[in-house]
Amino acid sequence: MIVHWLYTAIVRPILLYGNIVWWPSLDKNCNLRILHKIQRSAELCISGALRTTATEALNTILDLQPLDLLAKSWASATALRLREAAAWTTGSTGHSNILSKHSPLPLYTDYVPPIVDFERRYKIYIPTRSDWDNLPHQFVSAVNIYTDGSRLNSQTGGGVFSPELDLKVSFRLPDHCSVFQAEVIAIQEATTHLNTSVHQDIDIFIFSDSQAALRALDSYTTSSKTISECRKSLNEMATHLSINLIWVPGHLNIEGNCIADELARQGTTADILRDKDTVGMPMATCKLHLRQRLYTLSNNRWNSISTCHNSRLTWPNYNTKRTKTLLQCSRENISTLLNALTGHCLIGTHAIRLGLSNHDFCRSCKQIDEEESIEHLLCFCPAHNLKRFQTLGSYTLPNLAAIQDVSIQKLLCFLRKTEYFAKADNP
Ligand SMILES: [Zn+2]
Repeated sequence: MIVHWLYTAIVRPILLYGNIVWWPSLDKNCNLRILHKIQRSAELCISGALRTTATEALNTILDLQPLDLLAKSWASATALRLREAAAWTTGSTGHSNILSKHSPLPLYTDYVPPIVDFERRYKIYIPTRSDWDNLPHQFVSAVNIYTDGSRLNSQTGGGVFSPELDLKVSFRLPDHCSVFQAEVIAIQEATTHLNTSVHQDIDIFIFSDSQAALRALDSYTTSSKTISECRKSLNEMATHLSINLIWVPGHLNIEGNCIADELARQGTTADILRDKDTVGMPMATCKLHLRQRLYTLSNNRWNSISTCHNSRLTWPNYNTKRTKTLLQCSRENISTLLNALTGHCLIGTHAIRLGLSNHDFCRSCKQIDEEESIEHLLCFCPAHNLKRFQTLGSYTLPNLAAIQDVSIQKLLCFLRKTEYFAKADNP
């Protein structure tokens, strides 16, 4: 685990440093080969797999994407950030065409270069849940405004409700917007309905059930256009009015909060008004899209190779969660698992070559018509039926592809019981 971390957190960023400029050179195999050699060394170090194990199989099982695909994905994210900071020109050739060539990304985002702003004229209160037992759900002689955001069926909306202002507003945001943006924009929307001359001597309480939104408005830095604009509106209003933002727990069924919630739900199916049409996609969503695309391309490459027959059955796609479980094992166990998952272990022809066996039939069941193969051992070998039943819950497995649904821990238990794999460490 630590070597995996050292490689992904330190070595790989150093390897790909400045990729925004040199990513086109990764289309040349000679350059790519050098980088992949380094990744392969790290993978052998992490896994203790046999040196004959294919790089592609190690990449997939250890969740380390091919470096050319990763570099292009990182370059796209950097170019996008630079574009939003007005520091990027998209060209038709060379490194500057990354956004048009490699990424299905939006024409505008919610990103702004980080802004530091110490001005805070409004107050933010985040009471604990137990504090709420003693707090009034509505302040008397004050203007109470309840705000909420909602996302239903991949559509985002917001709602604002105030009994004192006789205000009920629903609005919809473009579908790429997050519920967090809707929460923040609902707070901003609340300020636009305050009349500075009428409410001058009255306390304004804006309730939101999003701690994340309130904390973001309380922070001194931001790289989100939505947060920055909301802060500006709040500060502007707070020059004339006393504005207080309060967190309200969503589950308390506070009437105002419930009405705002319902308005936000209605907002998700409303028409998008022109002033909300330009709210950009959050940078986190852009990065998520890039990451999903990276995995799609990596999986496509993995599934299109003609070798690694066993590994492609036992580990058909990149699987971050399964890799994490695998990496929690000791290096010796990772090696055992890798040997079984890839079929690169000392059985069958490998064993004969190394003098561990002088025939190609199974050494366990000794049936001369049963070839000693990874599929036979893991799935069918009758000599291991009981061990299979004790660990995997079934006497036999239908085929090698069934291994992808077996938990890492159970598979490891079975492998240890067979005693084939415990011995199958690097020679
Ligand atoms: Zn057998």
